[in-house]
Amino acid sequence: MAVGPDLRIQSWLMEAGKGMSVTAQRKDSRGVYYVRTLGCQMNEHDSERIAGVLRAQGYQQATPEQVRAREVDVMVLNTCAVRDNATQRMYGTIGRWHRFKQHKPDTRIAVGGCMAQKDRERIVKAAPWVDAVFGTRDIGSLPGLLDKARKDGRPQVGVSQELRDLPGRLPAVRASRSQAWVSISVGCNNTCTFCIVPSVRGRERDRSMDDILQEVEDCVRSGARQVTLLGQNVNSYGWSTGDRYAFARLLRACGRVPGLERIRFTSPHPAAFTDDVIAAMAETPTVMHQLHMPLQSGSDRILRAMRRSYRSQRFLQILDKVRAAMPDALITTDIIVGFPGETEEDFQATMDVVRRARFSSAFIFEYSPRPGTPAARMPQLPKAVVQDRFERLQALQESITLEHMQAFLGKEVEVLIGDGHGRHDGSTHRVTGHERTGVLVHVGVPQGMPAPKPGDLVTCTVTQAGPHYLIADPDPRAGQVYGIR
Ligand code: SF4
Repeated sequence: MAVGPDLRIQSWLMEAGKGMSVTAQRKDSRGVYYVRTLGCQMNEHDSERIAGVLRAQGYQQATPEQVRAREVDVMVLNTCAVRDNATQRMYGTIGRWHRFKQHKPDTRIAVGGCMAQKDRERIVKAAPWVDAVFGTRDIGSLPGLLDKARKDGRPQVGVSQELRDLPGRLPAVRASRSQAWVSISVGCNNTCTFCIVPSVRGRERDRSMDDILQEVEDCVRSGARQVTLLGQNVNSYGWSTGDRYAFARLLRACGRVPGLERIRFTSPHPAAFTDDVIAAMAETPTVMHQLHMPLQSGSDRILRAMRRSYRSQRFLQILDKVRAAMPDALITTDIIVGFPGETEEDFQATMDVVRRARFSSAFIFEYSPRPGTPAARMPQLPKAVVQDRFERLQALQESITLEHMQAFLGKEVEVLIGDGHGRHDGSTHRVTGHERTGVLVHVGVPQGMPAPKPGDLVTCTVTQAGPHYLIADPDPRAGQVYGIR
């Protein structure tokens, strides 16, 4: 089924029916759906598209009560092949979902995403109660596969090698009104030896700038105040057509969209990081001073074995330039420890880069082989060695992170209030959001002052710093700040 722009649905339709009870469903509803996402922000956003195509075909989002009562018509698992234990997590979830079918035999179960792209036939064999398997490039085909499975009474597999619909051509049901994800490209042209992404998502395909800007404007019209531009390598946007400055231009163009308060992006690749992007970040007031740039290793020998084409010196030079242009920049990273062949000397090189880079925080991963990748065939390090290095690096990073967080104490920050709630918001009477460089802040509303709504911007004084969050309990009588706009 070709899904064109005619299926682009407007915000009122995107939100209509969210949280409806069974009795309140629209009369023409084809049933209710539930989508579960494993993996990264890319997958989270794909799930918004999955929900969008189902909604456009007349399905409604299931309420939590319907899910708990197993009264769901379509269950979709959007899988990830990048994270550890991807296979076990996928089969574990599908196994539990079998009970939905036992309770309600006409429930349809679909599996999509990276694991579906990779393991399509195996999924149908191992879990014959699955009705549809669809690949990363086949989101638009899902309703057709479900219909065919229902009609033919047997599982349907739709996994294409070629991408038909760039993400903007599919409708979306967005999880948040105030913050939206916008894909600028899909796929990746690199060949990092530990990574499965290129084989499941294919080569990079970029959307046109007009198309992206149109979607950004649509999101703002629907209430978004922050947009995150998504891509495996956002800053190689345009490179396939020889336009090395396209990403910086895109940032500046997003900066001209009226009503958009914050623009962030994830993730840039160090090898493609050019000075014009730093200038665009520094000179566009709405681009957040936040940079998540994967280091992966501080050892040049390991970077070579990983087939990452930058070296540690170049990485550090980029950070120097970013901080020179934006002294308040919050820089975070991803690091893999225990890559095959990593010696203690290589590991010390990573520790050294982390000390010099002073990341605000880092996602540190113990290397674990992904079947089908070149690194999985290399001799592996003993688990105990990998774990020991992980703990040492984690301890170093945590001490640096704490210093960063404490530097916020007493400062005024501007917090964009999110749609969700912090874990303790109910008991502490706080609201939760992120400040301008992306740090999580729990804000206490001073007595007698109005409480902010999702999407509001609150200026407040930070009063406590935790390991991964800030608390602002401002006392205006003591000169501390609290204001909403
Ligand atoms: S740049 Fe490397 S790690 Fe990132 S998606 Fe591409 S192959 Fe994977």
